[in-house]
Amino acid sequence: MNRQYKKETICIQSGWQPKNGEPRVLPIYQSTTFKYETSEQMGRLFDLEESGYFYTRLQNPTNDCVAAKICELEGGVAAMLTSSGQAATYYSVFNICEAGDHVIMSATVYGGTFNLLTCTMKKMGIACTVVDPDAPAEEIEKAFLPNTKCVFAETIANPALVVLDIEKFARLAHEHQVPLIVDNTFATPINCNPFKWGADIVTHSTTKYMDGHAMAVGGCIVDSGKFDWSAYPDKFPGLCTPDESYHGITYTEKFGKAAYITKATSQLMRDLGSIQSPQNAFLLNVGLETLPLRMERHCYNAQKTAEFLEAHEKVAWVNYPGLKSNRYYELAQKYMPNGTCGVISFGLKGGRDAAAKMMDRLELASIVTHVADARTSVLHPASHTHRQMNDEQLKEAGVAPDLIRLSVGLEHIDDIIADLEQALSDIE
Ligand code: PLP
Repeated sequence: MNRQYKKETICIQSGWQPKNGEPRVLPIYQSTTFKYETSEQMGRLFDLEESGYFYTRLQNPTNDCVAAKICELEGGVAAMLTSSGQAATYYSVFNICEAGDHVIMSATVYGGTFNLLTCTMKKMGIACTVVDPDAPAEEIEKAFLPNTKCVFAETIANPALVVLDIEKFARLAHEHQVPLIVDNTFATPINCNPFKWGADIVTHSTTKYMDGHAMAVGGCIVDSGKFDWSAYPDKFPGLCTPDESYHGITYTEKFGKAAYITKATSQLMRDLGSIQSPQNAFLLNVGLETLPLRMERHCYNAQKTAEFLEAHEKVAWVNYPGLKSNRYYELAQKYMPNGTCGVISFGLKGGRDAAAKMMDRLELASIVTHVADARTSVLHPASHTHRQMNDEQLKEAGVAPDLIRLSVGLEHIDDIIADLEQALSDIE
């Protein structure tokens, strides 16, 4: 597809490119397997000598079309879908790490990512150092070790809404010859392209705004193709030395800029599974078609809601990077001048008890674990998504015990504000 197209056009037109007489809409290839005339042909596919489909755990045409669309939106060279955002995070790191290695992670990442990198991957022998994303570069620098293999952070942290200084993190990672992996779920490629600012790999929980309707759990990994793995063969042996499980293929030699995604697909997906179902990829594609329109409205509604809350006498504090009073306003203007996301966090003067009371009184907004879909929803992270963390970890993650996370949906702004107003009027 023509690189000059705007994102709105890519969202509609990219991915599935029907030929004469083919379906206009992306078909769901609901098939585990693909047929070949000769065993030799099939053998060549298994050896990665030819590209083609043979088993949906490795690749599926529906999934590939959707991955290609997200790849283009991010400005990458290759992408893959995964069964969930968690799987995307896991594969993005595990693709370049093994037992004995070390990663650096921003303290404010999503609770599931925090758990994965600090607990589960630790059991696999991969150590993780947690850093304050707002710390000066000299401070973060101290976390790098000779066996560090990547740095992981979120464009806009869930739920702390910390805006990442992507350039600072990219510079630090590159000075230590490792890639920066950025989870771009909250900003989406509509509001931010981390590759433009130096990130090397982007991950997504497509479950959120990309799907946009809370229908399907999914994830995606996109490679910018910019990180030169072959310059550091000792650091990245998995990419730069022969893979015995693929007849001695060296990914960087054979696949060049597509090495990272090819390895993640043909090795990790083959061995660990976690594919996105073609049905879910189809739903994701429908969501992507309207992503630019929806992001614009999410951001508009969130801005109005944040301003309403900030002016309310019962509200103690509001955190939204679109507010001029916000400590991340300048960074948000730099990296996301057209808007950040639809998620706001706030606390009430009445504290944790008032928060619970207010949430129970909401009529339009519902209490759900989810964020970032069409329906306005609320959550109390300290009691829900982050309940595995102690008070110290909650503080480090930027999650105050009284924090209410409000995911502003696409309903009319007057109705969203009226609902908050009536719920607030009932509490101390
Ligand atoms: N990354 C971020 C920023 C998230 O908010 C989430 C889920 O909330 C994930 C990753 C994990 O994604 P999933 O729930 O699709 O596994």
